[in-house]
Amino acid sequence: MPDDCIFCKILEGELPSARIYEDEHTIAFLDINPWTRGHSLVVPRNHSRDLLDASDEDLAHVIAASKRVAGLLRDKLSADGINLLNSCGEAAWQTVFHLHMHVIPRYVDDPLRLPGRPQQTDPEELAELAEEIRA
Ligand code: 5GP
Ligand code: ZN
Repeated sequence: MPDDCIFCKILEGELPSARIYEDEHTIAFLDINPWTRGHSLVVPRNHSRDLLDASDEDLAHVIAASKRVAGLLRDKLSADGINLLNSCGEAAWQTVFHLHMHVIPRYVDDPLRLPGRPQQTDPEELAELAEEIRA
């Protein structure tokens, strides 16, 4: 574990957190700066930096725990929907470099909106791009 990882410190109990779920491989606690009421983070007990660094096993555990947390937020907070969000890398807004999944409960008419707008493209451009990625 890196000395300065705040999520490892939360896992070890060196820093406080409002835990809502835990199992053998993961814990989940409330985000300190929530986007909506009940915004939670699912964190694997093993330290890895991000999506690309994590093992497939840890990723599977994080997804399974995210489903359980989503169910809790639906059942206990009457969430109408859920967004899962993972940021991988600084350019993608990652600020804490221990893999985590945001589980964000959504409520009909809540004010949360995506900051970007989808752009237009055409099928030829998409085909070329797919070729570039596959090659
Ligand atoms: P990221 O920006 O890396 O995708 O998400 C990191 C998240 O961790 C942010 O939403 C931030 O509010 C949350 N966070 C940062 N430090 C702490 C902390 O000490 N405790 C808790 N509960 N959440 C934290
Ligand atoms: Zn860590």
